[in-house]
Amino acid sequence: MNDVSPQTVYLKNYRPVPYLIDEVSLDFSLGPETTQVTSRLSLRPNEAAGMGGAPLVLDGEKLELKAISIDGKPIDTSRYSVNASSLTVAEVPQKPFTLEIVTTCNPKANTELSGLYVSSNIFCTQCEAEGFRRITYFYDRPDVMARYKVRIEGPADTCPVLLSNGNPGATGTIPGTDRHFALWDDPHPKPSYLFALVAGDLAHVADSFVTRSGRKVELRIYVEKGKEDRCAWAMESLKTSMRWDEERFGLEYDLDIFMIVAVSDFNMGAMENKGLNVFNDKYILALPETATDVDYVNIEAIIAHEYFHNWTGNRITCRDWFQLCLKEGLTVFRDQEFTSDIRSRAVKRIADVKLLRANQFTEDGGPLAHPVRPASYIEINNFYTATVYEKGAELCRMMLTLIGRDAFRKAMDLYFERHDGEAATVEDFVRCMADASGRDLNQFFSWYEQAGTPEVIVVEKYNATAKTYDLTLEQVTGPTPGQPDKAPLQIPLGIGLVGSDGDDMPLDLEGVGALNEPLIELTEAKKTFRFRNVARKPVLSLNRGFSAPIRIKSGASMADQLFLMKTDNDTFNRWEAAQTAAHALLRASLDGRKPAADTKSFISALRAVLNDSEVDQAFKALMLGLPGEQEVATLIGRDVDPGAIHQARERLRAEIGSSLKDVLLDLWKKTAAKGAYRPNPDETGRRSLRYAVLYAIAGGDSALGAKLAMNQLANSTSMTDEIGTLSTLVTLDVPERAAALEAFYARHHSDHLIVDKWFALQASAPLAGTNQKVRELMQHRDFKLTTPNRVRSLVGTLSMANPFAFHAEDGEGYAILADTILALDPLNPQIAARMATAFRSWATLEEKRREFAKAQLERIEAQPGLSRDLFEIVSKSLAQ
Ligand SMILES: [Zn+2]
Repeated sequence: MNDVSPQTVYLKNYRPVPYLIDEVSLDFSLGPETTQVTSRLSLRPNEAAGMGGAPLVLDGEKLELKAISIDGKPIDTSRYSVNASSLTVAEVPQKPFTLEIVTTCNPKANTELSGLYVSSNIFCTQCEAEGFRRITYFYDRPDVMARYKVRIEGPADTCPVLLSNGNPGATGTIPGTDRHFALWDDPHPKPSYLFALVAGDLAHVADSFVTRSGRKVELRIYVEKGKEDRCAWAMESLKTSMRWDEERFGLEYDLDIFMIVAVSDFNMGAMENKGLNVFNDKYILALPETATDVDYVNIEAIIAHEYFHNWTGNRITCRDWFQLCLKEGLTVFRDQEFTSDIRSRAVKRIADVKLLRANQFTEDGGPLAHPVRPASYIEINNFYTATVYEKGAELCRMMLTLIGRDAFRKAMDLYFERHDGEAATVEDFVRCMADASGRDLNQFFSWYEQAGTPEVIVVEKYNATAKTYDLTLEQVTGPTPGQPDKAPLQIPLGIGLVGSDGDDMPLDLEGVGALNEPLIELTEAKKTFRFRNVARKPVLSLNRGFSAPIRIKSGASMADQLFLMKTDNDTFNRWEAAQTAAHALLRASLDGRKPAADTKSFISALRAVLNDSEVDQAFKALMLGLPGEQEVATLIGRDVDPGAIHQARERLRAEIGSSLKDVLLDLWKKTAAKGAYRPNPDETGRRSLRYAVLYAIAGGDSALGAKLAMNQLANSTSMTDEIGTLSTLVTLDVPERAAALEAFYARHHSDHLIVDKWFALQASAPLAGTNQKVRELMQHRDFKLTTPNRVRSLVGTLSMANPFAFHAEDGEGYAILADTILALDPLNPQIAARMATAFRSWATLEEKRREFAKAQLERIEAQPGLSRDLFEIVSKSLAQ
């Protein structure tokens, strides 16, 4: 991994390949320690590349080359050479030819989980982004799309199931041996990163789906034996997704069979391999007693996401990895729309924005900030980021807002018409949006190229005599690495001028007239919008629905925020007003000022919302949720004291808990379970309110919180109840805590997904002893560095979801993370690098913590032989 010195790859250096591959025939002879792969490639010169006579240079890593021939004849050793990352063949025919390569690899030794590996005796592959080169020599880049035929041969007893992409072909036994084989044929050209192979002793559940045009598709979910009863929700979600994509985007599935395999050792959440999705089993397996509401919602969304990739990613793929947002941003947008359509749009929007703020805004504000479409990278695996995914989705959403829903659908149709079967660019996609709508999106394109979170500064002026309301907006995007100066962006802003009765006033914009849509566009650095015939001074509700991924800086008073919190017609902005008010209270409390008066009125506004029978339970739960500590830290941006932020937030939580005790206890009674568990939106909303209420009550009175929690635990009927209760209990320094955690482990120790939750619960506790506990748990017999889910549960939770413990004053949180990263890097560099991003905000910390964190980063950087993945994250983090 460290035999090649880290090099930067640039978008501007993109060149097409000199040879095209039309067909690939792969023959696998599986063995855990030695798997032999025979690859036959039908190649021809790529005239368009204009590189006639160039040598053929194929990617390959950790392979042993056994044989190589062209058109059936072995080639002389003088004609080819092999190094740690490639195979070069000179003097290849300048007409169509067949290259046959025989290689071996060692799946069992593959702890990186990239390429072909063995997980719990299952052979499994992960090829995105650059894992295929660890299976055979190939042009391992997304713009080389070929048809694949695969033959898999393996032992019949340990590998009764042999799967690959496409449609199934012949199967049979090999006479005189204990081995058998299966053939697979994928008629759709695909890039190598979508290749998949799975083999092992797996059970499956089957169902079917009839497409809109009447084609019957077989659906299968493969799992470990004995887990078949946990697949029903995933299967249901798959069928819902297939139907939705037909109805909303007119897109049908295109093979005879769609398969999903759940595995327990997986670097990612899930992978959209053509016709054979591979999933981290935590996103497949669910029963009410093993999975929480959050798990159910995630399973539904991730099944949908990977299925939607069949069109946005697989049929139309990316020209190069710089275009990653073309498939990811768009597909996240599609899965967000799916969840919004089948559940609550408002709840989904708020959840997505919370995620965006906690992860993407934080990324954008630090040394790892990069544009949605980066211009360079050292290791592409480091760019599966919140910016590419979540901000990428926001850009699709903004285009929909700008051109309208109908034009957006037309543009999507045009995109599939123009680029089906191709490797496309972001420019191709945006051109479809522009062509279908007639809008000029040249300025909009800067959103893809410019990093950083824009801030929009608001100045309001009402003229009672002239009845005009002037709204002056100024946009500023701060410098980010490599981008000191920023151009103004095209920012769509949902807007409402709210009258004192809570109703929206008509919008009559000077120079335009009455607005059809409550939307304005800011395209200049600074602009004044004058609204006419405004009868009374309005309260401004801006960026409704979070129409743009920006920060608003306004002089709005606390009274205005509390007014919007109670009355805004835009559900998102009602929540947003509560968040803005809470941020102001937290900041005031941090600065040591006396926030008492405002806190009181904030709490009484909250009381009104909780008592409002028109408001649904899921929304009440969201209104009770205070801004996260990371979000507050990101907003402060310098000399951050995470300990002080935690204390301020705890004080506000305590005040809410004690002042609203009566309402909260009443809600606690009203939200008790009636009947069996159902994962539908209403019941999910009820439970989310119930556990938000418990958390609030416990903040005001920990003994009462513990008592209610213990009672609930004794009567729990679902994992949602157990986790809902325990996640409050672990925040309390009460005697019940330890016994409850022990009992939970005793109850569930044989279920690895629930053991992950047990590790995460303890790592999430904002208590003084947490770091010590995490050190102990790293020695627990169930903790394994080679299992990504386990590492994420324990050390990932500590560093990404527990700012209090991670940023402990003595630097111990940073030391735990650095120790883990250093031990992990030789085993699994992708996960090591991912974990290291938790240091991304180190430079914004107050001096003492800043020095501790920096020292740990330097300790990692000084380690000889760092992986390219980790080197990139650490060196960029320190380079500020
Ligand atoms: Zn994806």
